[in-house]
Order: sequence, then C-alpha cells, then structure tokens
Amino acid sequence: MLELEIALARVLASLPPPGAELVPLMQASGRVLAESVVSPSDLPLFDNSGMDGYAVRAVDVKHASPDSPVRLKIKARIPAGEFFPGELTAGECARLFTGSPMPRGVDAVVMQEDTRVEAGQSEEVFICDSADVGENVRRQGEDVRKGTTLLQAGAALTPGAINLLAAGGTAQVSVGRQPVVGLLATGSELREPCATLSPGQIYESNRAMLSPLVALAGGIPKIYPLVPDTLHATRSALETAFNECDCVVTSGGVSVGEMDFVKAAFEALGGEFNFWKVAIRPGKPFVFGQLGKKLLFGLPGNPVSAFVTFLLLVRPALRRWQGAREVDLPVQTGQLAEVIANPGERRHFMRVRINDQGEVRSAGVQASHMLASLASADGLLDLQPQTTLPAGTMVRVLRIQ
Ligand code: AMP
Ligand code: MG
Repeated sequence: MLELEIALARVLASLPPPGAELVPLMQASGRVLAESVVSPSDLPLFDNSGMDGYAVRAVDVKHASPDSPVRLKIKARIPAGEFFPGELTAGECARLFTGSPMPRGVDAVVMQEDTRVEAGQSEEVFICDSADVGENVRRQGEDVRKGTTLLQAGAALTPGAINLLAAGGTAQVSVGRQPVVGLLATGSELREPCATLSPGQIYESNRAMLSPLVALAGGIPKIYPLVPDTLHATRSALETAFNECDCVVTSGGVSVGEMDFVKAAFEALGGEFNFWKVAIRPGKPFVFGQLGKKLLFGLPGNPVSAFVTFLLLVRPALRRWQGAREVDLPVQTGQLAEVIANPGERRHFMRVRINDQGEVRSAGVQASHMLASLASADGLLDLQPQTTLPAGTMVRVLRIQ
C-alpha cells in the first residue's frame, strides 16, 4: 500500500507534457497560463485624474481656502477619452473628470467638491482648497511598468488577472490544453436518475458528482453510459472511453470481489498498472494505470471514497496536466471545537465543517457510504493513524468548496 504523497508523485510523473492553445481572453477564466505575460505598456497608460474636478498648478492654489478662494481661468474642458494638446500656464486650470488625461503645465487636481462656479461665469472657477503636487493624479506606470512580468506561466487566470491582461490590450492568451476526462460508473445495481428502481437497485450518483469536480479542476468531463458488472461490458466501455478521451475515471469495481472487473478489463486492453492501493481512508482501493499515453484513474465506488480520492489524486493530475504550478487543495487554518480521533491504522481524511470563526467540527458520521456528511462538509482534515487531537488544537483544513 502506497503513501499518499508517493502515489501522487507517481501520478504526476506519468502525465504527458502539457499542450497549449490560444483562447480569447473573454473565455480564459480558470484556465492556466502556458506562457508568462509581459506588460506591453505602462499602467496607467498616461497621467490622469483620479477625481471629477480641476487640474491646477499646485503653486497657484497654495493659499486657497474656503474663506479666500483662488480664482482660475478654465482653459479647457477635457472629458475622459479626450486629449488636450495645449499647455496650461499660471492662473489657468482645466475641467477634468475621473480618467481624463492631465494636460501639460498642471500638476494636481482639486476635487469638484472643493470648488465653486458662479452662475453666469462659466469661464472661471473658485478653488477653495490647496493641493499638493500630484494630489488626485494617477501617475503613468505607477501600477505596472512596461516590460514587467504581469503573470507567470502556470498561474490560473482569475477574473482579476484577466482584468490586468485586458487592461494591457491582450485579446487572447496561450493556456494549457484541457484534458478530456471520460467518466464511467460500474455496478449492475446502478440505475439512471428517473428510472424505476427494482428491489436491490440504487440510483447512480458518482458521475453527477465527478462531472462538476472535473470541470472545476479545468478538465472537460465526458459522461458514458452505466457499465454492468461483467468483464465484457467493462472492457468495451473502457475501450470506447480510451479512444475518445485523454484519461478515464471509473468508479466502482476496483475492490477484491469477484464482481470487480475494472482491473481485469484494463489489463485485457493492454493497460499497465502503476499502483492500486493507497494508505488512506476513505479510498484505499484506488487504481492508477497507463494505456499508452492515456491514464486510468479507478476510483472506489462508495461516493465518499470516490470524492476524496478524486480530490487527492485526480484533481492535482488534471491541474498539472494543464500546466498549473499549484495543484494542492486550498488550505484554511482553524481550531478544533471538539475532540477528534482516528483510532484506525490508516490516515483518515475526515469530513469537517469550518465556520466563519475558524471553528472546526466533524461533519457527521464518517463511513464512506454516508452522503449527508459529505454534502455538509467544507473540508477534509488529514488525521494520522491512531491519533487523538484535543479540542483547541490548531489544524489545517483542505477546502473542498
Ligand atoms: P464498489 O466499489 O463497486 O464495490 O462499490 C462500493 C459501494 O458503492 C457499493 O455499495 C455500490 O453500490 C456503491 N456505488 C458504486 N458505484 C456507485 C455509483 N456510481 N453511485 C452510487 N453508488 C455507487
Ligand atoms: Mg461495484
């Protein structure tokens, strides 16, 4: 049985090199940058006003106050988006709006609220407050300098990062290709939602869970029909999925029972196993193998085991496949609000809840068929074997949502 970290290292070492493609920036949210992006320009692009107000020479309004305002001639009116080619001199100002380019000759902006225009005298303005040089001016390049690296290859594109690239005039970006992930659920007891169940049958629920998990990891899920527990059906389902996808994620049929056909079917197709047991609970019988350049992730059928093994072993693979540097689940630090124990022999990834105060509690009964505690969990707590953690212990929770 492999340690989780060793199993994960083996998975990551088996990935094909990431491919890249150009996509419109508008469609790049969540994708992974294939190349670092260098800023083609300064940001802001030019000195501009941070306020609606008047661009002045600070020296002209040095002694301005509400009781003794300074009268200036309005030389220009410059809406955002327009440019004034002239230069202002002593006693002159320009009417500006937020984002208007600063004209030459001025060095500060007095906000509108500190000014007064008399009725019928629209050519001049009374400035009622002084301004320091640079006040309310947004300087060219103070945010980003031309030529600096905006984002590194391997970074995931957040909406904020996309805004930064868009501000630099980027229309398309080179991102890691998304793996197509075939999803197969094995089990003769499984039925599609809406089907009428005969005694002993259950609704299949793993593909519905794994499909959004794949999509959240940046993969493209492709759902296949249910696979009954026969070698023939399992083999032909795997064959179809491997022909059409970059990797295949199965659920169920990887234990030791005589009704578990995934391993035999995979071998019959020419697949090679890399490992098939990981020392964690839930999720011990996890199969990882290669068929040529394509990968098989055989998850246990119990939905909680499928969920946990997907997040710990498949999600990182799908992220790295796209070139992501960061492949671990996000971590939140919290404090146990109750005693939590793992009396077992295997490392346990417990479903826990964590509230706004950072208090961590068990999400409920932990058996791997218990679905309610999975639905209400915020994270997983990595508990070493034969460990009891008293209330008050600081812990790291792997966020699952
Ligand atoms: P297995 O790994 O095939 O032995 O399945 C373990 C348990 O998980 C059994 O109780 C199965 O009925 C259940 N199970 C397997 N696959 C699914 C699935 N896709 N949806 C819901 N339950 C499943
Ligand atoms: Mg089964």
